[in-house]
Amino acid sequence: MKCDYCGSIPVVIHRKHSGQKLCKDCFIQKMQEKVLKDIRKYKLVEKGDKILLGLSGGKDSVMALDILKNLHERGIVEVMAVTIDEGISGYRAEGVEIATKIAKEMDIKHRIVSFEEYLGVTLDELMKKPQNGACTYCGVFRRWILNKVAREEGATKIATGHNLDDEAQSILMNYLEGNLDNLTRIGVKSQSKDPRFTVKIKPLREVPEREIALYVLARELKVHLAGCPYAGDSFRAEVGQFLKEISLKHPTIMYSTLRGFDRIKPVLKKEFSRKSPLTRCKVCGEPAAANLCKACSFLKERNE
Ligand code: SF4
Ligand SMILES: [Zn+2]
Ligand SMILES: [Zn+2]
Repeated sequence: MKCDYCGSIPVVIHRKHSGQKLCKDCFIQKMQEKVLKDIRKYKLVEKGDKILLGLSGGKDSVMALDILKNLHERGIVEVMAVTIDEGISGYRAEGVEIATKIAKEMDIKHRIVSFEEYLGVTLDELMKKPQNGACTYCGVFRRWILNKVAREEGATKIATGHNLDDEAQSILMNYLEGNLDNLTRIGVKSQSKDPRFTVKIKPLREVPEREIALYVLARELKVHLAGCPYAGDSFRAEVGQFLKEISLKHPTIMYSTLRGFDRIKPVLKKEFSRKSPLTRCKVCGEPAAANLCKACSFLKERNE
């Protein structure tokens, strides 16, 4: 088997859905081109943006950094990275170490922040008497911290490493649970009228997880491979497993989930997005749908 572009062997990927075959160098080049093209196509960044990237040290955020660095080096945007330590013993420390090393190697400004420092509690402590799933706490608190750090740093965009699999999972989960308001907030770029919310972008939204794994391997980037000990418990993990299995027979299913969703999203938004404007959380001042933001209401629940 030869590479479709340069005729070299060996081929590192044979894409089932398109029949395309690529050698290592052409694969790396095509992936970088694809992500940079998506960034332009969806107008994810503007010249002069300061981008705060959530860098966990896992393959997705490391690939996002590897590509955003290109725009940083060309002086189009300024990129900095933040690693959030949720306080998950036996797991997070290694990710923090890898993220620190990679940011240093790439000469990117890097900050480490923690649940403990910003919220006064670690995820492990919350999970001793949980009232919600670990990933529910984790998602809400991470978004809360990212938003706060973005304002502290004067960032104009928050970038995350969400990939095609993550996004297809989010769409399917919210369909299955009937969370129409949540669905209206899924997208490649999310913005709010509230200036306290920094615009969020997902440059890898159309890249399948397995191609990200192959990319970091081909680029010889060191990434945090361990799985979070709380991951298996979640509804997301079940939906993810289902999508993976069905993709074996139907390799384009995640793309079609995404494409179909993006087409109906404007209708959903018109009909189902939250009508009442956001207010300010009475405790922390962050944007909130009710008196308390989600993060503060979780912390209140815990203290009661
Ligand atoms: S699997 Fe869940 S708890 Fe673990 S890091 Fe991810 S969101 Fe957080
Ligand atoms: Zn090639
Ligand atoms: Zn709050």
